[in-house]
Amino acid sequence: MDLGGPGTCQDLVALEGHIGDCHRCPLGDTRTQVVFGVGDASARLVFIGEAPGRNEDLTGEPFVGAAGKLLDELLASIGLDRTRVYIANVLECRPPGNRDPQPGEIATCTPFLRRQIELIDPVVIATLGKFATQYVLDTTAPISALRGRLYRVGGRRVVPIFHPAAALYDGSKRDVLFDDFHRLAAVIARAEAGQDAAPGDAPTPRAAAGPLGHTGAQADAPRADAPPSHAIDGVAATASGSDEAGEQPALF
Ligand code: URA
Repeated sequence: MDLGGPGTCQDLVALEGHIGDCHRCPLGDTRTQVVFGVGDASARLVFIGEAPGRNEDLTGEPFVGAAGKLLDELLASIGLDRTRVYIANVLECRPPGNRDPQPGEIATCTPFLRRQIELIDPVVIATLGKFATQYVLDTTAPISALRGRLYRVGGRRVVPIFHPAAALYDGSKRDVLFDDFHRLAAVIARAEAGQDAAPGDAPTPRAAAGPLGHTGAQADAPRADAPPSHAIDGVAATASGSDEAGEQPALF
C-alpha cells in the first residue's frame, strides 16, 4: 500500500524501500528486479541513463554491462570513479528486449528519479542519451542537437551527452564522448569555483510549474549562433556568461 508518494521519503534508503517490488507499470511483470540508483548519496554529479539492460536486470546495478564499462573509462578519464558520482536511470526496470521506454513507463517511474535528484541535490546532472536528455530538458529535440551545450534546469546545470552505448555501435562517437566528459569536468570545476554565474541564473519560468510540477525554470538553451560542440566550452570560458541565453522548463 502506498502511504504517500516518493516525496515523503527523506533519504535514498527510504525511497528504495518505498519503490519496493514495484508493479506500478507492466515492466514489473517482465523484469527480474528493480534497479535503483547507486553511488554517492551526496554526489555533486549525477548521471542519468535510459533503463536497465540485461546485465543490470540480473545484477540489480545500473551500467554494469558493456556500456557501463565504457562509462567507467569515461569517468576515469576525468579522474572520477563510480563511488564519487551517483548513477540512475529514467526507468528502474528493464524494458523487454531492451526496447525503448514507453511514455506511460516514463511517467510512472520518473517521480522516483526526481526524488533521487532532490535528495542528492547535485550541482551538475549529466544526461546520457536521448531519453534522459529529453526527459530532463522536456524536449523532443534529438540528442545530437542537444549535446555539447550547458543547460540549466531548476537551478541545476545539465550536460547532455551521447549514451555510452551509442559509441559501442558507432565508433566515431567514442572521441565525442571523451571530449564531452572533459567539458563536463570543466563545467563541474567552474561551478565549484563559482565562476559560471550567467544570465541563465535569472529564472524566467515558462509556466508556474513545469510538467513535473517544478518551478523556477531556467536553462541555457541552444543558440542558433553557437555550434553545439562549442557551447559548453563557450559557457565555461566566459564567467560573464555571454554564451548563455534562453530558458527551458525546470524538471528538477
Ligand atoms: N544503459 C542504461 O541506460 N542504463 C543502464 O543502467 C545500463 C545501460
